[in-house]
Amino acid sequence: MSATGIIPGVAVPVSLLARPQDFGGRRQGDCLTGDLVLRGSRVQGLRPGAAPTRLVMPKPAEVHCHLDKCHSIDRILASGTRPGGGLRHAIAAQAADTAHWTKTDLHARIGRGLADYAVAGAGVVRSHVDWHHPGATLPPAWAALRDLASAQPFTVQMAALCGIDMLAEPGLADAIARAIAPDGGVLGAFVLDQPHRRAGLRAAFAAADRHGLALDFHVDEGLEPGLDGLQLIVQTAEETGFKGPILCGHGCALSLMPADDLARLAERMARTGIALAVLPATNLFLQGRAATPAPRGLAPLQALREHGVRVVIGTDNVRDAFLPLGRHDPLWSLSLAALAAHLDAPMGQWLPMVTTEARAALGLPPVTVDGAALADLLAYDVASITDLLTGAPPPRALQPMKMETTA
Ligand SMILES: [Zn+2]
Repeated sequence: MSATGIIPGVAVPVSLLARPQDFGGRRQGDCLTGDLVLRGSRVQGLRPGAAPTRLVMPKPAEVHCHLDKCHSIDRILASGTRPGGGLRHAIAAQAADTAHWTKTDLHARIGRGLADYAVAGAGVVRSHVDWHHPGATLPPAWAALRDLASAQPFTVQMAALCGIDMLAEPGLADAIARAIAPDGGVLGAFVLDQPHRRAGLRAAFAAADRHGLALDFHVDEGLEPGLDGLQLIVQTAEETGFKGPILCGHGCALSLMPADDLARLAERMARTGIALAVLPATNLFLQGRAATPAPRGLAPLQALREHGVRVVIGTDNVRDAFLPLGRHDPLWSLSLAALAAHLDAPMGQWLPMVTTEARAALGLPPVTVDGAALADLLAYDVASITDLLTGAPPPRALQPMKMETTA
């Protein structure tokens, strides 16, 4: 004897089903609708039923944020610093703020950032942590995030954010990889125009391979000519045959690349399995300030997808020296990307970039609604995906509305 639960009046995005043809329900736009049938604690399918009043989907995944920096903007403004003016100005303003990064301050700000993601219903969050000092000792922000992460209702992945030049120093990439491996850390680096970026990349790939870590790069976050970070990362991946997940963030320079060059690079990214996180909020704010007409600095995500690249959407900065606004909420970031990157309706086709595809970019197995455990799903009090992406109330855990007993 097994219990079957029913949740009446549900819409499920077709794009978040592994086998929509076997799921049942009635097609309504980019969703299937009906009463959700549960078998034990798992979703079995839809049967004909009430008109939808709630949307059920997997918990969103955050592929890229900076919880060590977040919610510091008011203090930065109070110091007389005026953020803005581009990426390098923001880096300097944030660096000056690190004088205030005491244990109490880190716990308060990181705790608030994590609480933001709990409200947004996140299932997994990858946060970068700046690696300011030269050695392999864990930074205080790393320890603070690790301590707070263990109490969260979601998974936190921590990525060490080092300058790529630093990783070129003999033995340092390996020492950092060894230090972060016990925490399931990701080896990350900021790659722009540093002179030793090639050697740094080789060291990063070798260290990640040796310690079984994923790689994550901030790369080509600028619109100046000659940025070659992504090309070097692709080349190093090809040369080494690295098997772990590689996620690159930004790729702003791709937005100025001729179509033929972009197609060739995208095909190599797809072949080597390198995913790209597009981060609209900070790019829209910091990039393209010195030119008219103003380029927006977003990588051409639709063209990259068409060439087979796994493209996902991330939040990046929230209320810090890089961006005075922002919101720790993957659905908000997708909504912003829709405006910035001309993501046409039906909107369901883009949801995998903050759910199933995002999890895959983080090296995790995708969660689709069919067969999912209830604990991995959320219910939103909306009846359509446009409603979901226009400011839905916070999601709720999934609760069967009535139970039936079947033999
Ligand atoms: Zn970032």
